[in-house]
Amino acid sequence: MTTKTERIIPIADGRRSKALPDAGSLHAADRAGTDALGRHLRDLRISVTDRCNFRCVYCMPRDKFGADYPFLARRELLSFEEIARLARVFRGRGVEKVRLTGGEPLLRKDLERLIGMLAAIPGLDMTLTTNGALLARKARALKSAGLQRVTVSLDSLDDAVFRAMNDADFPVAEVLNGIETAAAAGLTPVKINMVVKRGVNEHSVVPMARYFKGSGHIVRFIEYMDVGATNGWCMDDVVPSAELVRMIDAEMPLELLDANYPGEVAARWRYRDGSGEIGVISSVTQAFCSNCTRARLSTEGMLYTCLFAGQGYDLRGLLRGGSSDEEIDAAIARIWHARADRYSEIRTVETAKSRKIEMSYIGG
Ligand code: SAM
Repeated sequence: MTTKTERIIPIADGRRSKALPDAGSLHAADRAGTDALGRHLRDLRISVTDRCNFRCVYCMPRDKFGADYPFLARRELLSFEEIARLARVFRGRGVEKVRLTGGEPLLRKDLERLIGMLAAIPGLDMTLTTNGALLARKARALKSAGLQRVTVSLDSLDDAVFRAMNDADFPVAEVLNGIETAAAAGLTPVKINMVVKRGVNEHSVVPMARYFKGSGHIVRFIEYMDVGATNGWCMDDVVPSAELVRMIDAEMPLELLDANYPGEVAARWRYRDGSGEIGVISSVTQAFCSNCTRARLSTEGMLYTCLFAGQGYDLRGLLRGGSSDEEIDAAIARIWHARADRYSEIRTVETAKSRKIEMSYIGG
């Protein structure tokens, strides 16, 4: 029998980089800008820190991310100038949307300065995912710096359940205050991410939908995923999104909406009485790899082409090694051209045990 501890892979191992695909591998498909499965590069998630002030049990369990955990040293992090330079190159490669994430992005000092630098890149839509703990304090400054929207994670309105899930004894009321302050600052529509874990917070699903119905905020229910290697994921813990939709629909009738754009991760449902919409993100039961247009830049400049990747490509090495923008662009083109990831489509009990990078490091 395999025990949980035997399955844990030291996270530092996953930070090793992959060799860049060779220059010869770029031909016609690159001119089309698509990867090996015909997908364009449209979204970039940028992790600005691997640290977090929460220890959510499904993401950064406290026993694995304790006081002696080897978080990145400051000199290893990409500077704001390095991030902005890469973002410009990615914009030139077709990226339309950037999401700042982490770790907890609002822990990164002077984040507003980075937001200002990214807001100056023409045509780039910019949003941020946060646990909301510091949002009430920072929302106005984020908006003034040029941030367009926020997504706030909130797993239950039941204070005891939420405090247990964030494992930092953080109260619901402060996150709700952050959400309302963000909305008042114009970071709208505010999206609220709720990860649903069987037996932990599924009873919070309907109250969550009920609370935000008619508020203009959009709750997105997320299937618990086998990201990383520390959360002890198993399929029995997943509440399929079809079940989530049934639970909500039974009290507040729903109908399916069209996607806003190709590749949107959440399936959209609207309340039949016209009082708003919800989303469900079904990475486990209805994989959306075939439409996946996302790349992820880690805090220290590794590029990952899948949330479930084991290794990334070292862009910081290019930045700090004196490569020109054209050379970095060509490297990104080769990486994207070679991309054939479709982990969620081929997930099995065995792949769930494979070495994968932690979500707190790669960014959600
Ligand atoms: N600290 C920020 C936050 O809490 O939103 C950003 C980083 S967090 C890793 C991004 C998102 O990933 C959150 O909404 C979180 O709930 C979600 N997440 C983390 N681990 C997950 C898992 N195993 N399955 C599904 N979603 C997960």
